[in-house]
Amino acid sequence: MSENRESERTGIVFVISGPSGSGKGTVVDLLRTLCPDMGLSVSATTREKRDYEQEGVNYYFKTREQFEKMIAGGELLEYAEYNGNLYGTPKSELERVTGEGRDLILEIEVKGAAQVKELLGKRAVCVMLIAPSGEEQERRLRGRGSDTEEEIAARVRRAREEIREAPRYDYVVVNETGKVQQCAETILGIMQSEHLRSDRMMSYIRDYFEDDEL
Ligand code: 5GP
Repeated sequence: MSENRESERTGIVFVISGPSGSGKGTVVDLLRTLCPDMGLSVSATTREKRDYEQEGVNYYFKTREQFEKMIAGGELLEYAEYNGNLYGTPKSELERVTGEGRDLILEIEVKGAAQVKELLGKRAVCVMLIAPSGEEQERRLRGRGSDTEEEIAARVRRAREEIREAPRYDYVVVNETGKVQQCAETILGIMQSEHLRSDRMMSYIRDYFEDDEL
C-alpha cells in the first residue's frame, strides 16, 4: 500500500513571490537547506548575468530572440516582463521535478504567479513574503547602499504594486527582521500542512474501504 501511496503522491508547486526588501532570496536559500529534496525551478531570463551567477544554476540566460522563440514554441509555463526584462518558467522544469512526486518551488513575481494559479489550480499554492511594514521595507532597500534615491523610490513603488496582489495569494508570510530562520520554518509548516489537506490524503482514506464503498 505504501508503495501505491508513494506513486500517487504528486508534487505541489509552491509559488513564492516577494517584492524587493522582503528578504525572499535569503528565505528561499534557507528553505533549500531545510528541505534539500525540494526542487527549485531554474527560470529563463533576458536580463544580464550578474557576476556571481551561473548559467543553468541561477537562470538560463537568453537573448530576447531566443526567449521569444521559447514563447512561440509553447515552452514556457508562464512568463512576464519585469523591469524591462523577460522572465519565464520552462515547462520542462515542472515536469522534471513534479513527475518524480517532489515539490517544486517557483520563485517568481506576481504576474507569473497569477498565470500559474490559473493553469494549475489546486496543484499550486501561492505564498507572498513581505517585510513587516512599508518603513522597514524601505529601510532594507536603503541598507543595500548601492542604489540612488531615484532607484530606491522606483523599487518602493514597484513593491507596493506587487503587495497589492497579496489578497490573491493563498498565504502571506511576514519576514520579521532578524528572524529569517523562523520565517523559513513558517513556510515549511505551510508546505507540510498543504500535503495533509484531505483531498491530498485520499489514498490513506481509501485504504480503509473496499473500492465501491467510498
Ligand atoms: P532578479 O532579476 O532580481 O533575479 O528577479 C527579478 C524578479 O523576477 C523577481 O521578483 C523574481 O522572483 C522574478 N522572476 C524570476 N524568475 C521568474 C520567472 O520565471 N517568471 C516570473 N514571472 N518571474 C520571475
